[in-house]
Amino acid sequence: STDSGLVKTSLPETETLRFLNSGKVRDLYEVQDPSTGASYLLFVATDRISAFDVILNNGVPGKGKLLTQLSVFWFARLAHIVENHLVAATLESMPPGVRAQVEPLWTAHQLEGRTMLVRKARVVKLEAIVRGYLTGSAWSEYKRSGTVHGIPLRTGYVESDKFDEPLFTPSTKADQGEHDENISPERAQTIVGAEVYEHVSRTALALYKEASAYALTRGLILADTKFEFGLLPIEPDAPNSSSSPSPIITLDSKPHKLILIDEALTPDSSRYWSASAYAPGKSQASYDKQYLRDWLLSEGFRKGLESGREGEEGKGWSMTDAVVAGTRERYETAVRVLTTEDDTK
Ligand code: ATP
Ligand code: MG
Repeated sequence: STDSGLVKTSLPETETLRFLNSGKVRDLYEVQDPSTGASYLLFVATDRISAFDVILNNGVPGKGKLLTQLSVFWFARLAHIVENHLVAATLESMPPGVRAQVEPLWTAHQLEGRTMLVRKARVVKLEAIVRGYLTGSAWSEYKRSGTVHGIPLRTGYVESDKFDEPLFTPSTKADQGEHDENISPERAQTIVGAEVYEHVSRTALALYKEASAYALTRGLILADTKFEFGLLPIEPDAPNSSSSPSPIITLDSKPHKLILIDEALTPDSSRYWSASAYAPGKSQASYDKQYLRDWLLSEGFRKGLESGREGEEGKGWSMTDAVVAGTRERYETAVRVLTTEDDTK
């Protein structure tokens, strides 16, 4: 009945534009520039939304654009800490050979504002979670065992408390249909190796510190967030890139640089709380997906997940119009508050 947003793209394929795969939120295409031979990803954020790793039937209209706008904002703000995968987020800034292929599809397929041309990287198989505050699955674990991702913490923390120091708490990057799993730093090291782990954890913490300090100046607490990183081979004939802040890591005896990929610091990947309303000891009002998770739980979603019964597994769940509107409103608020020029200063 109502607008579901753009929940699926269907770009026509050619020799140089190929559908690659769909994640829970994004549709990925590989695009080649015939004039240079360079190959990129066309990274399209749809209006799909997922919670507990399950994609809802209907989307949140405008969400893909909000996520893209906020990611582009953060990529620019954080570029002095690490390079990122963004090449272009507008038609005008794309290499001509790519633009010529994408321009005819732009309007008909609603690509405007939700599409980024990015460099395709070798994905680091970790979700690089950084937590500044004790909430979500970390709070559940701490209550149970006094640890967070297996890391022993001091006693006395209450729900939503600020950690003495932000914590790097990785999880697995599960294959499609599987659930990401919180893991210990030790286990993460065995997955990606000590060198990659060292650079990823250090970079993720630096990004969190910079981003959370900025968010606070806009009245928002960045309670936690998840980054993804990738590795790009450094071409031997590339111009001297000594100005790059990205760490260099040797893989298969070739130098690679670590870059930030995927989305950055969006309400899909982060928890944003109001700083003025912050009160530890309970859950916090938030400008992110928590509102949807809470609604799903109140509707018996978890029970369905655990029983594994078809139809209750999350498959077939639709948001009411009010929940769509409530989610959209929270996402819009986060993006507006974080990105709008502050002209009072
Ligand atoms: P999954 O793909 O496991 O379902 P997801 O639901 O979070 O994860 P989306 O965010 O919808 O996925 O899609 C983005 C996908 O693209 C992720 O798998 C992410 O790891 C991958 N990705 C992001 N940036 C790059 C990049 N620069 N190069 C290669 N892959 C990337
Ligand atoms: Mg994702």
